[in-house]
Amino acid sequence: MAEFRLNNITREQILIVESRSKRPKDFKSAETAEKVKYKDNCPFCVGNEDNTPPEIFRLGSPWEVRVVENKFPILDREGDITGYHYVLIETADHSKGFHEMDEEEIFKVFKSYVEVCKKLYEKDDVKYVQVFKNYKKEAGASLEHPHSQIIAIKKMPDKINNKIRKYRELYFKNSRCLMCKTIEEELQYKERVVYHDEDFIIYCPFASIFPYEMAIAPIKHKSSILNLCDDDIRKFSGSVLKAIFKLNQNIGDVPYNMYLDFIKNENNYYHYEVRLCPRLSINAGFEIATGLYTNIVSPETAAKILRD
Ligand SMILES: [Zn+2]
Ligand SMILES: [Zn+2]
Repeated sequence: MAEFRLNNITREQILIVESRSKRPKDFKSAETAEKVKYKDNCPFCVGNEDNTPPEIFRLGSPWEVRVVENKFPILDREGDITGYHYVLIETADHSKGFHEMDEEEIFKVFKSYVEVCKKLYEKDDVKYVQVFKNYKKEAGASLEHPHSQIIAIKKMPDKINNKIRKYRELYFKNSRCLMCKTIEEELQYKERVVYHDEDFIIYCPFASIFPYEMAIAPIKHKSSILNLCDDDIRKFSGSVLKAIFKLNQNIGDVPYNMYLDFIKNENNYYHYEVRLCPRLSINAGFEIATGLYTNIVSPETAAKILRD
């Protein structure tokens, strides 16, 4: 029996079709690559720095995080729509996934996100910056060495524009940020909450598109990550790490997409968050044709399993 759910902001339509037979262990874990600290032919490994395009940013000496231009950018300074496309090398260790990092290591990754995004937003030809990570081949990663990507674009994408407009509309209607309200309700309802402390909540959103999808958001209203102090970044990255641990422990070392959703300036209606979208099933023909997504694990079941 399918249950229909609608995302009120994006208008995405989701069919929750929970299959009793499908338990976490039934999702095949993607093959785990051999664990090595260094690979000769990897451009992101220590010692091979000359094999990457120009460096934009580095943290630590010797470097612990490095940001370089993408060798195959989807946007550059020419063409109909211009932009910047960077790769953020998260660690010097060729095989260290987020789930194997400690709090200090993931803090450095998030600190670098913030610093690089700040610089990008200072440019005249940048309207929007997106930080994301494709983990494993099945989620779109083309290189093994742990990395994220940052894309800055001259034109605000319509999807983001519409989201901002919708959040603003609802704020003026209800005199309240919708996400602040959602978070308060989720904390009361509890069923979709995976974890929370005083500052952050991890929950499985009501209209999740992906099985075990998680949102990680600050409980106190905030729109941007650009002006977070180190302490705030530490709490933020620590919460994301917690969500990654939960996924790794309870579901496995599975492919996922992670993205940061934030805007440049503070306002009363846009609330920043991180989305973690495990890629255990593939949206195929029907989804592409109709825009109806099928999710075979309800967010309530997902949260119950992830909470452990
Ligand atoms: Zn490497
Ligand atoms: Zn809010």
